[in-house]
Amino acid sequence: MFQRSWARPASAVALLALVLLASACLVEPSGDPGAPPEVSPGSTVPGEQEDGTMSIDEFQRDVQGAVEVAEAYWEERVEGFRPIRRVIAYQRDGEVECGGQPLTRNNAAYCSGGDFIAYDVNWAVSAFRQIGDAFVFYLLGHEYAHGIQVRLGIQYRFTIQQELQADCMAGAYMGDSVRAKALRLDDGDIDELQQGLLAVGDDPGQPWFESGAHGTAEQRADSFFSGYQKSLDTCSLG
Ligand SMILES: [Zn+2]
Repeated sequence: MFQRSWARPASAVALLALVLLASACLVEPSGDPGAPPEVSPGSTVPGEQEDGTMSIDEFQRDVQGAVEVAEAYWEERVEGFRPIRRVIAYQRDGEVECGGQPLTRNNAAYCSGGDFIAYDVNWAVSAFRQIGDAFVFYLLGHEYAHGIQVRLGIQYRFTIQQELQADCMAGAYMGDSVRAKALRLDDGDIDELQQGLLAVGDDPGQPWFESGAHGTAEQRADSFFSGYQKSLDTCSLG
């Protein structure tokens, strides 16, 4: 019902690595949770279309598709499942807050207080255009996994454990969805994803790279592909 042919432009590897490691995170609200802000999902995607193959429409369809596949996936596996409330696109620093903590550009997050996913739409569209829709499915899968962790009451002491488990869960959701034919990958897409994750390990001095918080490139790749290949059994969901 939901098929994808994933584009693989030449510049994908480096940017994908950057994107995956810059993308966070489970944001714990520090104050009152509050309601998510009134921003329509994907309603304000800026910029001109730069090529004929990856349009804004396609990006928005992929965001929607990734959320739908994730919902269907977790609904089958989590008792009493309820979908994450909203997926919010933002453009400016602080436009969206999570419990009083402003979300910054070039990032994405799940906010447990308001039960929403929010992402910088300029950053996401740019990555989408250069990498293809694999990025969208990974990004939404990772953030959705944080929502599932909250639903399952999983709370690790260290951020890195929470992040690596989310990577594993994102891998399981993608791998299982491919095996169930809810998603389709082209030959080589997964190899490229792996290379992209590992490539960043060669350049850990980048300012956005916080190995202590999110895991090294190798750790993240290991977690993602372990989940991708072996499903949730390897993700220590308990
Ligand atoms: Zn995360």
